[in-house]
Amino acid sequence: MARRKDLLKEYKDKRDFEKTPEPSGGKGPPPPAKSPERFFCVQKHLASQLHYDFRLEHNGVLLSWAVPKGPSLNPKDKRLAMQVEDHPLEYGQFEGVIPEGYGAGIVMLWDTGTWEPDDESICIDDALKKGQLKFQLHGYKLKGSWVLIRTKGPMRGQGSDKPSWLLIKHKDFWSGPVDVTAAAPRSVKTDRELAEILAAEEPDVWPGQRPAEGRVAGKALREVMLEAGQIRRRP
Ligand code: MN
Repeated sequence: MARRKDLLKEYKDKRDFEKTPEPSGGKGPPPPAKSPERFFCVQKHLASQLHYDFRLEHNGVLLSWAVPKGPSLNPKDKRLAMQVEDHPLEYGQFEGVIPEGYGAGIVMLWDTGTWEPDDESICIDDALKKGQLKFQLHGYKLKGSWVLIRTKGPMRGQGSDKPSWLLIKHKDFWSGPVDVTAAAPRSVKTDRELAEILAAEEPDVWPGQRPAEGRVAGKALREVMLEAGQIRRRP
C-alpha cells in the first residue's frame, strides 16, 4: 500500500519533540471532517520576532501565516501575512512556553472560533492557488468578512520558499478603527497575558540566551520577563 504523504513533514522536521511542549502532530492529519464547521485560531507568539500566527483549518491541518503586526479591524490596513508550514489541528489548543529550538518563546491562544469561505460552493484549494480567499470569521475577537490576498512570490531575504499574503478586514459591522491587539490582549483560553503564561513556567526557563535580544521583540521579552519575576530591574 502506498504511504500517504505526511502533510506535516515540514512541521515535524523543524522541531525536536523531546525539547518542545508543542503537539507532535501524530501520524498525520485525519481525513477532513464532514462537518462544515472549520476551526480557526490566532496565536500571539513572542519569539525572535513578535508576531501573530493566523491559522485556518483545511483538509485536516491548520494552514498558517505569521502576521508581524497582527490582524487589524481597520479595512485600510493591509497586514503582511507570511505563509509558514502547515500545523497539526491540535496546535490550535496550544498555549505555553517553548524553551528552545524553533519558535522558542511564549505562545498565547489569542483568539479561536470557526471560519467559512464567503461562498461555500468554491473550491478552497483553487482559491488558495489563485491567491485570493474571501472568508468569514466567527471568533471571540475577530468576526465578519476578511480576505487573504497573495502578493508576489516569497519575500526577498526571508529565506523562505513560502509566499507572502495580505490579511485585510472587509468593511462590515465588525470593522472599525479600534486597535484590537491592544484592546483585547489576553488569552481566550486562560485569560492570561504573556507574562502570566511565562510565570507559570520554571523560573530559569532561559538561563542562557533569550529567544529575543535587543530591538522590539527583545525589549518586549525583557518586559515580560520582568513582569513574570524571572529577572530583576537593574538598580
Ligand atoms: Mn509563530
